[in-house]
Amino acid sequence: MTSPLQTLLAVQEHDTALDQLRHRRATLPERAHLAAVEKRIAEVEAQLADARARRDEVAGRQAALEAEIETSDRRITEVEKRLYGGTVSASRELTAMSEEVDHLKARRSGFEDRVLEVMEEREPVDAEVAQLEMDRVALDEEKAAAEAAVAVAVAEVDAEIEVVAAERTTLAEGVPADLDATYEKLRGKLGGVGAAKLNGANCSGCHLTLPATELDRVRHAGPDEVVFCDQCGRILVH
Ligand SMILES: [Zn+2]
Repeated sequence: MTSPLQTLLAVQEHDTALDQLRHRRATLPERAHLAAVEKRIAEVEAQLADARARRDEVAGRQAALEAEIETSDRRITEVEKRLYGGTVSASRELTAMSEEVDHLKARRSGFEDRVLEVMEEREPVDAEVAQLEMDRVALDEEKAAAEAAVAVAVAEVDAEIEVVAAERTTLAEGVPADLDATYEKLRGKLGGVGAAKLNGANCSGCHLTLPATELDRVRHAGPDEVVFCDQCGRILVH
């Protein structure tokens, strides 16, 4: 039968493996990729907000000019209706109306030129917004794929954790409660390693060589006697 100390060493090996698996689970490269995609999404969102604000500003100017053109059109129609309606016959009044129509048409033409300028100004901004919106859609797809990859990788690690944890539970049944309590306390205090093997004259916990007298003491301890490394305080399994 395996001694409780040898079993404890196996428990330690399983705990170390579990710690490594949990670390791997937390630091999956798939997570780093997902974080990078999310960062790019945030960047594109910011660029998109900026481009949309510029587009809205230009579009606002365009709408204002178009409203001016409409107003001019309405006024031209009104004046022309009176001018050619036959109700006004005084030549001075007709001349004034005709001059007003000319003036309104010139004004309208000025607005039209400015609308064309604004539309030209708007074109690259519209293209920029459209491109960023496409980038955003592509990044959303990339994010969904990255999330799926994380889920797959996590499931793989979880399956490994489940196997090792089950083995550990079975092994732990062979460790007396007081020894287990001591081990857990040391493990919590000493970076996850509470029990270490004696390798020749070296403690595998702190990797220091035991002094001759100390080594002698450990070697003469009974197989079930719990001894500790003088240097790191860990349970030393000999
Ligand atoms: Zn040690």
